[in-house]
Amino acid sequence: MTEDFYCDEVLSGKTQVNKVLETENVLAYYHTRPFYPVHIVVIPKKHISSLITLEESDNEILVELLDVIKRVAAFSY
Ligand SMILES: [Zn+2]
Repeated sequence: MTEDFYCDEVLSGKTQVNKVLETENVLAYYHTRPFYPVHIVVIPKKHISSLITLEESDNEILVELLDVIKRVAAFSY
Protein backbone atom coordinates (compact mmCIF):
# COMPACT_ATOMS: atom_id res chain seq x y z
CA MET A 1 0.00 0.00 0.00
CA THR A 2 1.51 3.30 -1.09
CA GLU A 3 2.16 6.00 1.49
CA ASP A 4 0.90 8.79 -0.72
CA PHE A 5 -2.08 7.60 -2.74
CA TYR A 6 -2.73 11.07 -4.16
CA CYS A 7 0.69 11.64 -5.69
CA ASP A 8 1.76 8.04 -6.35
CA GLU A 9 -1.55 6.78 -7.75
CA VAL A 10 -3.92 9.59 -8.72
CA LEU A 11 -1.66 12.41 -9.91
CA SER A 12 0.74 9.95 -11.55
CA GLY A 13 -2.19 8.50 -13.48
CA LYS A 14 -1.52 4.97 -12.21
CA THR A 15 -5.02 4.86 -10.72
CA GLN A 16 -7.67 6.18 -13.10
CA VAL A 17 -10.16 8.48 -11.40
CA ASN A 18 -13.44 10.01 -12.52
CA LYS A 19 -12.67 13.74 -12.71
CA VAL A 20 -15.23 16.31 -11.58
CA LEU A 21 -13.23 19.49 -12.16
CA GLU A 22 -9.60 20.20 -12.98
CA THR A 23 -7.63 23.44 -13.00
CA GLU A 24 -3.93 24.16 -13.53
CA ASN A 25 -2.98 23.32 -9.94
CA VAL A 26 -5.99 21.45 -8.52
CA LEU A 27 -7.88 18.23 -9.27
CA ALA A 28 -11.36 17.27 -8.03
CA TYR A 29 -12.44 13.68 -8.59
CA TYR A 30 -14.98 11.14 -7.33
CA HIS A 31 -13.60 9.22 -4.36
CA THR A 32 -12.45 5.76 -5.46
CA ARG A 33 -14.11 4.19 -2.41
CA PRO A 34 -16.98 6.55 -1.61
CA PHE A 35 -18.62 6.63 1.82
CA TYR A 36 -21.43 8.88 0.69
CA PRO A 37 -23.71 9.01 -2.39
CA VAL A 38 -21.68 12.00 -3.60
CA HIS A 39 -18.10 11.81 -2.34
CA ILE A 40 -15.58 14.07 -4.02
CA VAL A 41 -11.90 14.56 -3.25
CA VAL A 42 -10.15 17.84 -4.07
CA ILE A 43 -6.35 17.78 -4.09
CA PRO A 44 -3.53 20.15 -5.08
CA LYS A 45 -1.35 18.85 -7.91
CA LYS A 46 1.73 19.75 -5.86
CA HIS A 47 2.67 17.45 -2.99
CA ILE A 48 1.71 19.20 0.25
CA SER A 49 2.04 16.86 3.21
CA SER A 50 -0.15 18.91 5.52
CA LEU A 51 -1.69 22.35 6.12
CA ILE A 52 0.95 22.85 8.79
CA THR A 53 3.78 22.53 6.27
CA LEU A 54 2.26 25.03 3.85
CA GLU A 55 4.73 27.66 2.69
CA GLU A 56 3.90 31.25 1.82
CA SER A 57 4.50 30.36 -1.84
CA ASP A 58 1.60 27.88 -1.54
CA ASN A 59 -0.98 30.55 -0.78
CA GLU A 60 -2.06 30.75 -4.41
CA ILE A 61 -2.67 27.00 -4.55
CA LEU A 62 -4.71 27.23 -1.37
CA VAL A 63 -6.88 29.96 -2.91
CA GLU A 64 -7.30 27.90 -6.08
CA LEU A 65 -8.16 24.83 -3.98
CA LEU A 66 -10.87 26.72 -2.09
CA ASP A 67 -12.23 28.09 -5.36
CA VAL A 68 -12.50 24.58 -6.81
CA ILE A 69 -14.18 23.33 -3.61
CA LYS A 70 -16.70 26.16 -3.87
CA ARG A 71 -17.42 25.42 -7.54
CA VAL A 72 -17.73 21.66 -6.96
CA ALA A 73 -20.02 22.26 -3.97
CA ALA A 74 -22.27 24.40 -6.19
CA PHE A 75 -22.81 21.57 -8.70
CA SER A 76 -26.08 19.74 -8.38
CA TYR A 77 -25.62 15.96 -8.33
ZN1 LIG B 1 1.68 13.82 -2.22
